Amino acid sequence: MEDKDYYKILGVPRNATEEEIKKAYRKLAMQYHPDRNPGDKEAEEKFKLASEAYEVLRDPQKREIYDHYGIEGLKGTGFTGFRGFEDIFSTFSDIFEDFFGFGPSTRRRTRPRQGADLRYDLKISFYDAAFGKETEIEIPKNVTCETCNGTGIKPGTRPVVCPLCKGRGQVTRSQGFFTISTTCGQCHGEGQYIPNPCKDCRGTGKVKKKKKIQISIPPGVDSGSKLRIRGEGEEGERGGPPGDLYVFIYVEPHEFFTREGDDLICQIPISFPQAALGAEIEVPTLDGKRTLNIPRGIESGEFLKIKGEGFPKLKGSGRGDLIVQILVKTPKNLTKRQEELLREFEEITKKREGEGKGESPSGWKRFFS
Ligand SMILES: [Zn+2]
Ligand SMILES: [Zn+2]
Repeated sequence: MEDKDYYKILGVPRNATEEEIKKAYRKLAMQYHPDRNPGDKEAEEKFKLASEAYEVLRDPQKREIYDHYGIEGLKGTGFTGFRGFEDIFSTFSDIFEDFFGFGPSTRRRTRPRQGADLRYDLKISFYDAAFGKETEIEIPKNVTCETCNGTGIKPGTRPVVCPLCKGRGQVTRSQGFFTISTTCGQCHGEGQYIPNPCKDCRGTGKVKKKKKIQISIPPGVDSGSKLRIRGEGEEGERGGPPGDLYVFIYVEPHEFFTREGDDLICQIPISFPQAALGAEIEVPTLDGKRTLNIPRGIESGEFLKIKGEGFPKLKGSGRGDLIVQILVKTPKNLTKRQEELLREFEEITKKREGEGKGESPSGWKRFFS
């Protein structure tokens, strides 16, 4: 912006009244309106200059600054001239609405809005999933900036009426016979403009802060369970309620137990004599060890159920079952003595089979005889 004489541009005396200034601008704007002078660069330039002059002289405050300090003085007020026609049309929408006979656009301010929900992923141990846990998590949240009290305005300064929409929050653009109203891009519909934003929050009114939140994980949760903590999401805007916090649970797998609904499944190896003779063995449970009776003659792969030793039920009361799958181990690395005994055992088995008393897996034989 080089130094220009805004009075000369509008063709008004330095003591012109507001009404005279408006009239002068209207006349020039009609004359050099881009719709009437398509492709005319000179008219375009004159239209822009006249608009700039009007923008300054119609505002008593700006006009006073201009009268005393010239254009240089206006720079301190944030006045930068116009970026283009759209800018001009939306700024002076009242003038252009008058030209084309449209009424003023309705004022629309943004309403209170609920804060956004937040998500937090929490990994917990298998045992914490089983028995629940009270724990503390730290959530990065946008909280109200204490420096400016959430206003986004540098303390000691004030917001000004948005220069683009003149406080309406809406800009109206005339295009031929149509006017298009949109939310003002400068103030996002607030109608106010903050020339000196708060430094701590860069004018947003919010700063990121870690907030500690106590959460209580109920017994029985599983991977994919969600805990909803009301009111611990982002703060609301303009007095709106806060959002909620959703804690997504991920349960670390257990090296020994797998989970199937509320039941726990594990595999326990036993020896061949234990399978044949029956035994009392120790098995792990979520609450510690306990004994389990292996019935005589159990087959490898069979399941034994221990009632009520499974996972606590998330909904309802009680617990699932512990299901133990028995795996019979074939003996290896035999000592000489063990081998002797097994050979003797096998001889007896064969002999009994010969006598028709066997119970060896001979069922397949009938398919081939
Ligand atoms: Zn605005
Ligand atoms: Zn601030």
